[in-house]
Amino acid sequence: MFNNLRELITSMPDEKACRDYLIKERWNGVPVCPYCGYSDKCYLIEGGKRFKCGSKACYKKFSVTIGTIFEASNIPLTKWLMAIYITSSHKKGISSYQLGKDIGISQKAAWFILHRIRYAFGNGNDNLILDKEIQADETYLGGSNENRHKSKKRQDENGNDIDPKSPVMGIIETGGKVKTIAVNHPTKRHAIDFIENSTVKGITLVTDSAPIYHKIGKKYNHVILNHSIGEYKINGFHTNSMENYWSVLKRGIYGIYHQVSQKHLQAYCDEFSYRFNSRKMKDCDRFAVSISKIEGRLTYKTLISKPEYLTGGKDIEPMMEE
Ligand SMILES: [Zn+2]
Repeated sequence: MFNNLRELITSMPDEKACRDYLIKERWNGVPVCPYCGYSDKCYLIEGGKRFKCGSKACYKKFSVTIGTIFEASNIPLTKWLMAIYITSSHKKGISSYQLGKDIGISQKAAWFILHRIRYAFGNGNDNLILDKEIQADETYLGGSNENRHKSKKRQDENGNDIDPKSPVMGIIETGGKVKTIAVNHPTKRHAIDFIENSTVKGITLVTDSAPIYHKIGKKYNHVILNHSIGEYKINGFHTNSMENYWSVLKRGIYGIYHQVSQKHLQAYCDEFSYRFNSRKMKDCDRFAVSISKIEGRLTYKTLISKPEYLTGGKDIEPMMEE
């Protein structure tokens, strides 16, 4: 058990200790062959670095990192676990430059590591269901590029052009969990799909008077605040939690990452919502949850060519507004 970064490093000082920790967290201490599912007698080989499946029909070799965000990485696990600890416990995240310096790897390697950590943080997000009173709202990230000279157009930390307006839709439980989705346009279709797939129907839904919420609102106890006439609260219902969350997200993104490209916006949204939703946990508990999300591999090729990552991998066609 550890309560800070120093204790994490002391409790897992080398690769063996990190592997043992992952074997315990991932497989409850009993290795499971990723090829055939056999778990009875997989035995250690190569001085404890890998396992060999004990099933006579399989006999394949595997390591504890196979099928996870760590797979095929040259970065030692000690540094990976430090990176995960730092990224999940720093309130506002960390830039690839800073992380690279802190753990002694290149900025490019840190950039890739951070994206794989964001990918892990986003794991399971699709299935997150909000069941208390919710507030829904949308916001735009990024400033305007339109009046800028070409040489001054905004770029993210990896040199991708920043779309001048990157919309994000969000829902939040009053005092509870948040869920956000990067979209190409905030439309009625997105509002319907996003809210319906992320909440329990019939609960209270508080929004401003934007028309995109009218249709979906009929399935909920819809409280509409007409912000244009200064109406910000009705019977205690408001959208302040959502607006406060937007300012946390914007301060984080502008303060740490300066700008992010639309292509990677969902990943940054996932990073911030994961930290927000685990804000009441102790750092060591949050670390264990982070480790439970490592299943799945994001390759560099997928990362740099992944327009489908926008809207969480599900790009929805915009629907014409009635
Ligand atoms: Zn096997």
